[in-house]
Amino acid sequence: MNLEIIKAIKGLLEIPQKIVIIPHKNPDGDAIGSTLGLWHYLKGKGQDATIIVPNDFPKFLKWMPGSEQIVNFERDSSAAKALINNATVIFTLDFNHLGRIGQLQPLLEDSSATFVMIDHHQEPDNYSKITYSDVSMSSTCEMVFNVIEGLDDVESITPDLAISLYTGIMTDTGSFKYSSTTSRTHLVVAKLIEQGAKNTEAHNKVYDTNTPSRLHLLGCALKNMVILEEFNTAFITLSQDELDTYNFKKGDTEGFVNYGLTLEGIVFAVIFIENREEGIIKISFRSEGDFSVNEFARANFNGGGHTNAAGGRSDVSMEETINQFKALLPQYKDDLNA
Ligand code: 5GP
Ligand code: MN
Repeated sequence: MNLEIIKAIKGLLEIPQKIVIIPHKNPDGDAIGSTLGLWHYLKGKGQDATIIVPNDFPKFLKWMPGSEQIVNFERDSSAAKALINNATVIFTLDFNHLGRIGQLQPLLEDSSATFVMIDHHQEPDNYSKITYSDVSMSSTCEMVFNVIEGLDDVESITPDLAISLYTGIMTDTGSFKYSSTTSRTHLVVAKLIEQGAKNTEAHNKVYDTNTPSRLHLLGCALKNMVILEEFNTAFITLSQDELDTYNFKKGDTEGFVNYGLTLEGIVFAVIFIENREEGIIKISFRSEGDFSVNEFARANFNGGGHTNAAGGRSDVSMEETINQFKALLPQYKDDLNA
């Protein structure tokens, strides 16, 4: 990675700072893993650091060491505000524009702290003084490892730090199978295991903690799947009523969208999930090959992400959203059949 970035981060950490670390809203494994990894590192360096999440994260990530000390802005907004107001340095991890942090956005816009972005999504905004943005990276966790390596501190990685980064790399690469997984990713993961990451434990704790109601919700989602062969596309819908029926908990729908892609020939998979409280339909897009769901989400559903994994939202009803979606497909037909 770029030496200038390392030099700049090194410069920041030479003096005691008041540091806040923030991931995107609805934080996933990479968001929680990378912020915890960086947090363990900074604490090890004697820095005063706190992670603030815009909202809660799934139970299947709450075993991670240090996660109990994360401040949830939705639950503890006055503490979070004070921390942000006093911060001298703010690390933003696993996102690249301030629209991704919900209600935290105005607080960060008003902050005079030095901003550091570490992120692997496309088209970064220009809000950070130090920007480490690389879309070729498997995960933000791999990038945090690179920073630690750049600072010559790999040998000081503790088991708690190692398991944090391991978990985020694991979840963002679909357990090391997506095309973003490189030989370097495996080398990083190997080093993390050497430093004490208990790899099997991470897999068990993230993937083998299903509840009966989640499996029933999956059954409902799969039953709802619609296959549009003409466009090599499969989509799933889940209404709020269906979520309620199966006692939906945050994180329960994680991974559902991927089932569409396991169908032979399907290159574009989508899940539409109603959120009555926010009055939106939250959408996840996945693709195989060259079809860019980042561009699709950006152009049509106020979202973005990566070439093969992106998210977005719709402010109209489920029915209207699905109609809009279907009406868009003909213009992408050639790309979807390439
Ligand atoms: P997921 O579908 O798992 O929520 O997200 C897939 C990828 O797209 C993740 O890297 C996530 O950060 C990104 N993403 C999800 N929702 C949005 C969104 O509304 N806007 C943008 N820009 N990115 C999103
Ligand atoms: Mn990520």
